[in-house]
Amino acid sequence: MPKSLDFVVGGGSIAGLAFAAEAAKRGATVLVAEEHPEIGEPEKCDGLVSLRGLRRFGYLPEEPVVQNQIASAVIHSPADRNFAVNATGLEVVVLERSAYDKQMAAAATSNGAVVRTGARVSEFVERADGVSVRIGGETIHAEYYVDATGPASSPRRGILPAAKYEIEADWVREPVVEVFLDADRYPGFFAWVIPCGRNRAKVGAAGHGVSPFKALDGFLSGRRCKILRRVSAPIYIGGPTSKFVHGRRILVGESAGQVKPTTAGGIMTSLAGAITAARWACKSLELKDPGQLANYQPEWESAFLKEMKAMLRLRGVIEKLSNDDLEAVIETATPKLVLKLSQTDFDFHATALFGALGISGLLRIAKIVASAEVRSLLVSS
Ligand SMILES: Cc1cc2nc3c(=O)[nH]c(=O)nc-3n(C[C@H](O)[C@H](O)[C@H](O)COP(=O)(O)OP(=O)(O)OC[C@H]3O[C@@H](n4cnc5c(N)ncnc54)[C@H](O)[C@@H]3O)c2cc1C
Repeated sequence: MPKSLDFVVGGGSIAGLAFAAEAAKRGATVLVAEEHPEIGEPEKCDGLVSLRGLRRFGYLPEEPVVQNQIASAVIHSPADRNFAVNATGLEVVVLERSAYDKQMAAAATSNGAVVRTGARVSEFVERADGVSVRIGGETIHAEYYVDATGPASSPRRGILPAAKYEIEADWVREPVVEVFLDADRYPGFFAWVIPCGRNRAKVGAAGHGVSPFKALDGFLSGRRCKILRRVSAPIYIGGPTSKFVHGRRILVGESAGQVKPTTAGGIMTSLAGAITAARWACKSLELKDPGQLANYQPEWESAFLKEMKAMLRLRGVIEKLSNDDLEAVIETATPKLVLKLSQTDFDFHATALFGALGISGLLRIAKIVASAEVRSLLVSS
């Protein structure tokens, strides 16, 4: 089979573009195929991210890409008790995600990768000595296919439908991210408000078994605002997949489930996955040793798996709680706990939360969860 390229990447978003930029920097020949006509559009993601996380991987956003710097996060209970975590030390910003993807595309092309838009990958066939990837009416041959198609290939069981509006309103609190918990309106998830400057915000809602647009309209009823843009997009909360490499198909980003199961935030963890994969994939080509690629998954997991498992545990707890339980849990947020949370790492919030709760806090939560467990047993029997 004639080989023209080292890598064909399906999906030109954060993971695909970061893979391309890193692999091309190492001298590999790379083609990125993005199905939409413009990189970054339609914009689904809210772009809430920690600069600390991005700095680790060398792709800090250029200044115009940053819409806002976040100073605190307020968590609201269903009865609107709330507590605020000071986020000034956490370096959390809101990115214009479409502009960040364009920045990544520019990095990839300036390193020598080709980024093709309006190019949908419709088929991938693996052969002993390479892959054939069907893009539009053309078949391209390469050593590896990198699947960065996001929710299109993440496992269905972890997908939640979500709705998001970009709004303008005088009640948007700058620069405060707000999270609204309510087990009836947003079961297992929440509604959110992320301010992006000039009285604008990205507001969204998701939950198991609910119509997200109905939930979001319910959230906004009584909160006057002008809706500038409506987006329907699934979020992924199922945790990392068990295998990142399948023969000559390399999964990166959301395709590999490299997304936080608590918040569905995946910018940093997907970037990390793509960069790690590119390094080991290039090594395997350089040494003509496909076994090198086996280092990708353990390296990503050594950085994130412990936290992802903690997040899945936290998600398991949240999904069992009723609104009364949520009120009781919010009550456990003592000033000492809130202070500890403000001194942790935005990207490792589940282990930080468990650590900050300590034994006594965990026991208090365990009591609430135990009663929720008993209740769910009664309901299911
Ligand atoms: C509503 C919403 C809000 C979010 N907010 C945040 C946030 O605030 N912070 C955060 O960190 N994360 C957030 N996320 C998650 C974040 O957007 C994703 O985790 C991240 O974008 C994953 O990147 P990716 O490159 O793996 O996949 P994606 O960004 O999903 O990109 C996949 C790309 O593949 C393309 N594609 C799909 N199929 C094909 C095909 N067959 N051929 C060619 N191209 C194809 C798509 O068009 C797309 O461009 C949010 C997600 C949603 C839905």
